[in-house]
Amino acid sequence: MRGVVFSGDRELSVEEFPQPEPGPRQVVIRMEAAGLCGSDLRPYRSSPEALGPRTSVIAGHEPCGTVEEVGAQVRKVKVGDRIMVHHYSGCGHCQHCQAGWTQLCANGSKVYGSHAHGGFADRELVEDYMCVPMPDELSFEEGAACSCGTGTAYQALKRLGISGLDTLAVFGQGPVGLSATFLGAVMGARIIAVDPISERRRLAEGLGAWQTIDPSHTDPVEAIKELTQGQGADASLDATGIAEARANAVRSTRIWGRACLVGEGGDVTFEPSPDIIHRQLTLIGSWTFSTGILEELGNFIVQRQLPLSDLITHRFSLEHAEEAFKLFESGATGKVVFTWP
Ligand SMILES: [Zn+2]
Ligand SMILES: [Zn+2]
Repeated sequence: MRGVVFSGDRELSVEEFPQPEPGPRQVVIRMEAAGLCGSDLRPYRSSPEALGPRTSVIAGHEPCGTVEEVGAQVRKVKVGDRIMVHHYSGCGHCQHCQAGWTQLCANGSKVYGSHAHGGFADRELVEDYMCVPMPDELSFEEGAACSCGTGTAYQALKRLGISGLDTLAVFGQGPVGLSATFLGAVMGARIIAVDPISERRRLAEGLGAWQTIDPSHTDPVEAIKELTQGQGADASLDATGIAEARANAVRSTRIWGRACLVGEGGDVTFEPSPDIIHRQLTLIGSWTFSTGILEELGNFIVQRQLPLSDLITHRFSLEHAEEAFKLFESGATGKVVFTWP
């Protein structure tokens, strides 16, 4: 079977790997769709030295497909089931694993696509508890989006307690930010979408943004205050991981506001007194989601007949992985997925 590996310095290759065989509690998935995530760009851009052993691991952590083979002790899924993959393994026994949060495992978790073979492949071998059932009405492409980017946005909005009472500023309109715009609007909030790339602002408008701001031309904190009678947004979410955007996300909220950091890496400088303490700000960090939340999201999308597929702008087959990553890195896309027609 084929699998995509990052070789370092924006090089990647489609290589041949042996067909996986399931252990007693493992499952082989036939891939139907696998999404590109903003966090894939970090290993994509890394040097070969920084990647180290990852240059021999299949990348991709938004897999979605059909169960092809199961081990003798697997009860959770059966051959033919359509599933999303919660892309972490853990000890299975600690409180976090028991709650479906294997990425928080007290005994160390493995990220599939980084430490174990991931989803940019014809097949993937996973533990049975990583398989999350999905409704028939949810497409594989939509399931792939939910499996990291859209699921991350959904959980962050839940953490923020977003409702129709809120004006929410979303910094960054990549796959996570666009998902937050889309789902936040569905939850009733007025969304102010911030991104310097015009294509992404246009997508945000199509996905329900009330207003968009180009931070390369306008001070977003001032612009958000102007749109909210000088008060600031009720809540903000940073999906960029960029220091300036993070600080702006915090500073653009009103007194008693909430801010949520989602974008990873990098750093940020706040002035605790004026930025946080004297404004009674609630500052939240949110990292992906549990198996239960992923299942809930699939049902949420189907029950409300949400057009999540509007988020997906580009589809590639695996052999065009290089082209897919070049385009995705340009930023002028919504969600990009590999598909297996
Ligand atoms: Zn991701
Ligand atoms: Zn654990």
